Amino acid sequence: MTAKIISGTEIAERIRQELRAKIADLRSKGIVPGLAVVLVGEDPASQQYVRNKGKACDELGIYSRTIVLPADTTEEKLLSVVDELNKDPQVHGFLVQLPLPKHIDENKVLNAIDPGKDADGFHPVNVGRMLIGDPLFLPATPHGIQEMLVRSGNDPAGKHVVVVGRSNIVGKPVAAILMQKARGANATVTVAHSRTKDLASFTRQGDIVIAAMGSPRFIKADMIKEGAVVIDVGTNRVDDPTAKKGYRWVGDVDFDAVKEKASYITPVPGGVGPMTIVMLMMNAVTAAYRANGLEY
Ligand code: NDP
Repeated sequence: MTAKIISGTEIAERIRQELRAKIADLRSKGIVPGLAVVLVGEDPASQQYVRNKGKACDELGIYSRTIVLPADTTEEKLLSVVDELNKDPQVHGFLVQLPLPKHIDENKVLNAIDPGKDADGFHPVNVGRMLIGDPLFLPATPHGIQEMLVRSGNDPAGKHVVVVGRSNIVGKPVAAILMQKARGANATVTVAHSRTKDLASFTRQGDIVIAAMGSPRFIKADMIKEGAVVIDVGTNRVDDPTAKKGYRWVGDVDFDAVKEKASYITPVPGGVGPMTIVMLMMNAVTAAYRANGLEY
């Protein structure tokens, strides 16, 4: 069996079309959705993510603001920036790009964000609301994974989903979202991590396997059952002298081998990555609807 490719690029474009209609509707009511991003320091990967977010906003007609602070910014200063954004009516949603420099307490900063403007969905109130099935904002990457599954005809209801990874931004929330008693969920979920014994014995049971480990090409074909749906979240930079830049991006899944066994698979790049950005845009738009007492 050769797997069908689930193109995040194509699905994200469809969602962008839907968002354009929503944004036009808001604009017709005199509302321009606004998203702000706060970046502390000069981490090149973070700078690139922040640029991509700004570009995506501009392309859709979402008002975007990027606040760049030096790496030695004090926690107090960052908290005052968060406070200003909490109060700014032009900004419906915002996020503080992680990771933060070591001298800043990440949890303290996340806790200071107004949960109603928490575009990343990382505030403990939003994490709790996601868990009890009453979400305000869903975190972008796990929400994007759910949309990819549903829109590719792989509704997770009744399926055994095996998630490899238990981070707060991917593994745990995707497990929480897919186990809900809700549309596009109702899966039976197993979460594996670095202390899991005999990982392959779990992944081989998965109707759907979600790899979110950060370990290049770790998931091999013999770890997947025939016909499984494989979602590769991993984004790993590996040296490749044959590539123009001397490196390329690969996922956590051994794509070439696994695609011969899976029924559906996501590529890297062009899979989960584009979905993450568009789901963040969706959070900005839903926040604008909510802030104006409107139904999305
Ligand atoms: P983390 O490093 O925070 O978490 C990795 C998780 O994988 C941990 O729970 C870890 O276990 C587990 N793990 C690592 N090695 C193994 C192993 N050998 N066997 C089983 N479990 C293992 O990473 P993130 O969740 O932040 O990201 C994961 C990957 O997804 C990265 O490549 C990242 O770049 C990518 N990513 C991509 C996004 C996108 O938009 N495409 C967005 C976010 C992330 P333990 O908890 O025990 O340490």
